[in-house]
Amino acid sequence: MMSISPSSNASQPALPGVTRLAPSPTGALHLGNARTFIANWAIGRQRGWRIVMRMEDLDGPRIKPESAAEALELLHWLGIDWDGDVLTQSHDLEPYRHAMRTLCAAGRTYPCTLTRTEIEAVASAPQDGTAAPPGIPRPDDAGRAVDFREEDHNYRLLVDDTAVELLDRFAGPHRIDLREAGGDFVVWTRRGTPAYQLSVVVDDLRQRVTDVVRGDDLLDSAARQTLLYNALGGTPPRWWHLPLVVGPDGRRLAKRHGDTRLSFYRDAGAAPERVLGLLAVWCGCIPSPREITVQEFLETFDPAGIPRSPITFTDKDHAWLSGS
Ligand code: GLU
Repeated sequence: MMSISPSSNASQPALPGVTRLAPSPTGALHLGNARTFIANWAIGRQRGWRIVMRMEDLDGPRIKPESAAEALELLHWLGIDWDGDVLTQSHDLEPYRHAMRTLCAAGRTYPCTLTRTEIEAVASAPQDGTAAPPGIPRPDDAGRAVDFREEDHNYRLLVDDTAVELLDRFAGPHRIDLREAGGDFVVWTRRGTPAYQLSVVVDDLRQRVTDVVRGDDLLDSAARQTLLYNALGGTPPRWWHLPLVVGPDGRRLAKRHGDTRLSFYRDAGAAPERVLGLLAVWCGCIPSPREITVQEFLETFDPAGIPRSPITFTDKDHAWLSGS
């Protein structure tokens, strides 16, 4: 009889994984996004995983459809590639409607009839320090099966009474109590489109994503998405939440820090190798910036070397990208 020792398992090839690049076409692909995308790409390519591309053009009011092509072009310019066609969320809403019908039939979601003003009033009401969790009041009949009427109201998912445990490959173990983080959350909007939380889970399921790599501002979302996986009968992916790139004031990189968009530096004449040199420092591949190719990036990248705390974009970095 053949016996298999634990060590013989260690030499088995890793199971094929699937990771995804999921830009939102807001026209603002900045250096912080680029750092996360290239780390995501390198994690996938080093392991021989499939890398799928998804255009998250349902994600919020800042979407500019014309920015989708630009985002893809910029990622290609940096040397990032992917496998297969791009999935564009807005092209077909049926998969999201289907998920909503499942959630509605199972009584996991309820239509929320509160107006934005009423919701804001709840959020700003003083808490009296007793057990009442902040968040939106539930209707008395929440939890019963409802019909899904897509252009009716926002629908909210009922959050569990217990905290969600996450084991993040990068951020470590986390326990997130969603009752303290806004409570029941929107999965379908009154505009007749899925909310970010639902579309991400439906897409990660249909694209068979095994590993989600993104910024750690989305850790709470991983808890919400875990509930959705459970409600839709899927297995959550492995999570890798990376610290964000911040400005000198410690706040996440944004317009207030000047123009940090990738397109700004490209249009000002920076070579992709120069940008990659800075991203390589931010990923812990090299100690100080120098021009490197995407191939060298891939060879020197090790997720264990990515700094565990936020990375600061400084004037020196700006000077490097500007060619000095
Ligand atoms: N589309 C989101 C963004 O660009 C990413 C969402 C996700 O990775 O789940 O910030």
